[in-house]
This record gives sequence, C-alpha cells and structure tokens, in this order.
Amino acid sequence: MKVQLLDAGSCVHPQHVVLRNRSIRPMRFHSMFSLMIHPKEGVILFDTGYSEQFLDVTRKFPGRIYTLTTPVRFSREESAVQKLKRMGISANDVRHIIISHFHADHYGAIADFPKAKYWFHHGAWESIRHKSRWRAIFSGFLPELIPQDFVARSVPLHARDQIPLPPEFAPFQRGVDMFGDETITLVDLHGHATGQLGCFVQSEMGTPIFLIADASWTTKSFQEIIVPHPITKILFSDYDIYQQTLHDIKNFAAKRPEYLIIPSHCPHIHHEHCNKGDL
Ligand SMILES: [Zn+2]
Repeated sequence: MKVQLLDAGSCVHPQHVVLRNRSIRPMRFHSMFSLMIHPKEGVILFDTGYSEQFLDVTRKFPGRIYTLTTPVRFSREESAVQKLKRMGISANDVRHIIISHFHADHYGAIADFPKAKYWFHHGAWESIRHKSRWRAIFSGFLPELIPQDFVARSVPLHARDQIPLPPEFAPFQRGVDMFGDETITLVDLHGHATGQLGCFVQSEMGTPIFLIADASWTTKSFQEIIVPHPITKILFSDYDIYQQTLHDIKNFAAKRPEYLIIPSHCPHIHHEHCNKGDL
C-alpha cells in the first residue's frame, strides 16, 4: 500500500481554541486527507478536505454561517480532485472514500468522485441526516455537499462488521478489516463527533500509520492530554468520551512508538509530512 498525506484548504482559529490556555494568536489549521493506493482495490481516500462546491454553498446564507464562524482559506486548485488530477489520478479512479466524520472540512469533496463507495460509521450518518438546516450548520454539516446517489454508494459500518483486533492494537479492541487483508483497519474514535472513525494503515514504506482525524487536533494534544477550549464543547458529540479517546491514543502511542499518528489538522505533521510523497 502506498500512502501519501495531502491537504485541501485550511481554516484559522485562535491557538487557544485548539490548545486550551495557549495564546489567542491566530493559527492556521490545514485540512489534510490521505491518498492510499491498494494493490488490488486501487485508489482510496481517507477524507477529502474542502471543495469548490463548499465555496458555492458557503457564499450565501445559511451556509455562510459556517465560514463566518470558521474562516476558511481555499482555492479551486487546492481541491483533492485537482491535486489528484495533477498526479495523474482522475476523479473516476477513486474507488473508495473513508469518511472519518461528517464535518465539512473532512467530507466536503465527496461529490467530486462519482465512482467512489463511501465508507463511514452508520451512527455518524444517523446522527446528522435528520438534523434541521440550522442545527446541521452548527454541527459543521452542510447537506448540499452530500451527492444525490450517496445512499446507493454507501457502505455504512455497524458494530456487527467489527472483529476482535490482535493485542498489538490495544487499547483498541475491535475494528473493521476493510478488505479482509489487514491493510486498512477502521476503529471507533468516539467523542469529537458521533461515530468518528480512525484508520490503521500498513504502508509498504514500512511505517505503520494511524489516521485519527479530529480525535486529537494536534500531536501535542494527545501526547500531553491538552483539551481544546470549552467553547468547542458545542461542536463535540461527547466531551467526556472525547477525553477518554485522547487517553486511548496516548496509551497506544506510548506502546507503539513506530506508528506515525496523524491528526488531520496538526501543524507539525503538516509541516513534516504533507505534500511530501510516500509516507
Ligand atoms: Zn471535526
């Protein structure tokens, strides 16, 4: 499996929103996604970042509320579909997209890939699909970014799809072996958003990877258990479980230091590994 870390846009927040008790200095948080090339299954994405359609939806109300509360910097050329195109991968080549959770900075470009199957936690979709227009926006969800044929192309994951994981994955005990070959294993990382998924990937370069999306906003957050500002509680599905997940990741990292753990918005990971070829 070849794995690359790419980005598609960014947003700005005061530093203390993400790392409590830090400065109010504005900080840029990139929206990273992963490109994986499986020897049999082809092109797979873990999340997608923002899209051109996101710009259209947030230009007018009520979508505009999203970018008023979270200032986004994004241009068409930065989108996943355009980046992949420059790498020789067409939109139709993408066969699978793992949606870590339904926040627009993570799933915002899924409609750009018309042949992809969408993998996500069943509970994640159920928690947002019936939300009112306004509640959806305040949960970071823009329904216009969901393609018409979403349900037909969906692979919602249920508890029954999970299998017991070997002890090496502890404290994570159950997960979904996506293709039955142990290359990609999806685990629940609850708390930030209902049914948020994390993803263990075995890269052919030898570095095992753990994609944790927003279960921790930075590497420091799980290493030192630094929780975000309480203002972010309104965004989180369960703040207590979020903290438990943060501890689980810290414990895993201590036991398995060979793993490259990737929070989707970590500035350090972005600087070191993003847009830099195979991991
Ligand atoms: Zn999120």
